Amino acid sequence: MKLEVINTGGELLLGQVLNTHLGYFSQQLLPLGVSVARAQIVPDGAVIGSAVREALSRADTLLVTGGLGPTSDDVTRELVAEIFGAPLEFNGEIWEKICAWLAVRNLTLNETMRAQALVPRGAAVLPNDHGTAPGFVLERDGQRVFCLPGPPRELCPMFENYALPLLKKITAGARPLTVKILRVYGIGESSVQERVGPEVRKIIGNMDIGYCARPGEVDIRFIAADAQQVARAAAVTQQILGDAIYADGDSTLEQTVINSAIAQNKTIATAESCTGGLVAHRLTNVPGASAVLQRGWITYSNRAKRDELNVSGETLEKHGAVSAECAREMALGALTVSGCDLAVALTGIAGPGGGTAEKPVGTLHIGLAWRAADGAPRVETHHQLLVSDRADFKLAAAQLALNLLRLKLVKAR
Ligand code: ATP
Repeated sequence: MKLEVINTGGELLLGQVLNTHLGYFSQQLLPLGVSVARAQIVPDGAVIGSAVREALSRADTLLVTGGLGPTSDDVTRELVAEIFGAPLEFNGEIWEKICAWLAVRNLTLNETMRAQALVPRGAAVLPNDHGTAPGFVLERDGQRVFCLPGPPRELCPMFENYALPLLKKITAGARPLTVKILRVYGIGESSVQERVGPEVRKIIGNMDIGYCARPGEVDIRFIAADAQQVARAAAVTQQILGDAIYADGDSTLEQTVINSAIAQNKTIATAESCTGGLVAHRLTNVPGASAVLQRGWITYSNRAKRDELNVSGETLEKHGAVSAECAREMALGALTVSGCDLAVALTGIAGPGGGTAEKPVGTLHIGLAWRAADGAPRVETHHQLLVSDRADFKLAAAQLALNLLRLKLVKAR
C-alpha cells in the first residue's frame, strides 16, 4: 500500500495548533506494515482539491483530515466528491443521528449543519461517535480516500474503530513491520550512531536504523519486516551500549526508575533545591509511584536545608549551598529522616544570575545516598556544569538525578 496523508487547516500552518495527526497515523499504521510515504499540510479551501489530485497521482490510499464541519471553510467533502465524480446526497439516517446528538447536549440545531449529513454517492460512512460530522471513504479503480474529522477526540476513535479495520482488510497478508526502540541516556546522537550503526550493519546487513535525540537522551529505532533481525540488532546494541540503555520500548527515565524500584522493593526520597520539585514531579507522573516515593523536600533556602535535612551551618558557611558537601548532607539527611533505601539531592545555579567565577551558572551538585547491606548509610556526589537556560538546566538536572537513581538500582540488582 502506498499511503499519503493530507492534513488541512490554516491553524496548522499558522502554528496555532500542532499537527498531532501525522504521528498518530504513523504509529497506528506501523503494525499493519504500512508507513506514511508522504505528508502535506494545506490551508482550508480549494487547494485541498489540488493536493488530493496530486497525491492520487502517486499513492493508492489517502488519509485526509479536517474540513468536514459545518462552516464555509469546511470544503473537503465537496472537493473529494467532485474528484471522484460522486454527487453529494442527503443521508436521513446521519441527519437523525446529528439531531439526537445535539438534543442530548442541549445544543441548538441550525440549517448549516445539514451539510454534515451529505455523503458522496457510493461512499462508505465512517460513524462519528464523538461529534456530529461523520467521515467517509470513497474508492475507485484501486484508489481510496479516507476523509476524517479534524478534532483529535473525534478522529482517533473513528480511525481506530472504523477506518483501521478497513485498512487491515486491504493490507491482509502484507508482512507487518517490527519496530523496536532502545532508549539511551548520556551518549550523544552522533556517538551512538558511530558505535551502533556499523556494528549492526556488519551482522544484519542493510537495515532501517533511526536516531532521535532529546535532551540528554537518544532513541535508537530498528524497523524491519523480519522480527528476528530486529531482535538481533537490539541484542548487538545492548552489548555495545550496556547500562547506557535505560529502556527497551518507549518507557521514560522516571518509569524505569519506578518500575525497577518496585521490582526490588526499594523506596526513594528526594531533596531538591534548584529543580524545585521537578524530580519528585516526574516520579509521581508514573502510576504506582506511591509504592516507591515516600517523601520529597523542596529546600530552597539555607534555613530549609538546615531545618529539614540537617545540613550543618558550618557546611553552608564554609562551602555554600551549591557545593558537593551540601549535596552530600542533603542526601544523607533525606535518607535518614525518611528512612528510605535511596535518596537523591540536587543543588545548583540555574541562572541567569547568581553565578561566580568559581561557581558559574549551570553548576550542579547531586548527592546520592543509599543503604549498604548492613543498613549503614552511604553517599556519593556528582558534579556537572550544565550550560543552558533556566528551564533547560532544570530539565537536564532532573534527568541526571533520575539516571543516577536508575544506575544505582541497576547495580543493586
Ligand atoms: P469542526 O467540525 O470542528 O470544524 P473539522 O473536521 O472541520 O471539524 P477542522 O475544522 O479542520 O476539522 O479542525 C477542528 C479542530 O481540530 C482544529 O481547530 C484543531 O483544534 C483540531 N485539529 C485539526 N487538525 C488537526 C491536526 N492535524 N492536529 C491536531 N489537531 C487538529
